[in-house]
Amino acid sequence: MQRLEVKLRKVDFVKFIDYKTGKIIGKDDKCYINVDAYENFINLYDSFKYKNKLYFTDMFRTVEEQKRLYSRNSSIAAKPYTSLHLYGKAIDVLVSAFNIIEYKEFCDIANKNKFYGIITEKWHFHHLAKYNNAISELDGMCEMFYKTYTNSDYIKLMNEIGYKDIKSFQADSYLTPDGILGPSTKRLIILRSAVYIYV
Ligand SMILES: [Zn+2]
Repeated sequence: MQRLEVKLRKVDFVKFIDYKTGKIIGKDDKCYINVDAYENFINLYDSFKYKNKLYFTDMFRTVEEQKRLYSRNSSIAAKPYTSLHLYGKAIDVLVSAFNIIEYKEFCDIANKNKFYGIITEKWHFHHLAKYNNAISELDGMCEMFYKTYTNSDYIKLMNEIGYKDIKSFQADSYLTPDGILGPSTKRLIILRSAVYIYV
């Protein structure tokens, strides 16, 4: 069956740092941006004046990593499968490296390039191409499937990725296991069956 394709592009010229220890860290598994956000990311990176203070603490994240962060502290990490980090559309920066003016400039340039912050997480910026929040943006990624898929298509796809019934899929997806094929279950069936392509 047709699956959502998440296309990622490497940005290995950026600097990654461990925000706890301050040490420059290996970045290969994190330094990817979704191709849909790539041009905006490059513009953001190129036009920020204080690049010597620009350190990234996170970028592309695997589901396993998101689960680990969420189970450690659910107040600072989104529920697994709802974070744009999983699709290469979110970046975290080391805010403590900036003074107020530098941080404001970073926010301004980020916004101009469709990377928006959230009030509760000053370090986090995600790319919202069409919508004004992460869930709607994820819906946007699934839009073409919503238009064409029937209920049995969703079930087929769910079976393909290894789930026999909706309840077990929901339980494993941090949803209420009510067995109903509703909008959030449909969204997650599409997202969880996504194929990652490195371009
Ligand atoms: Zn983040």
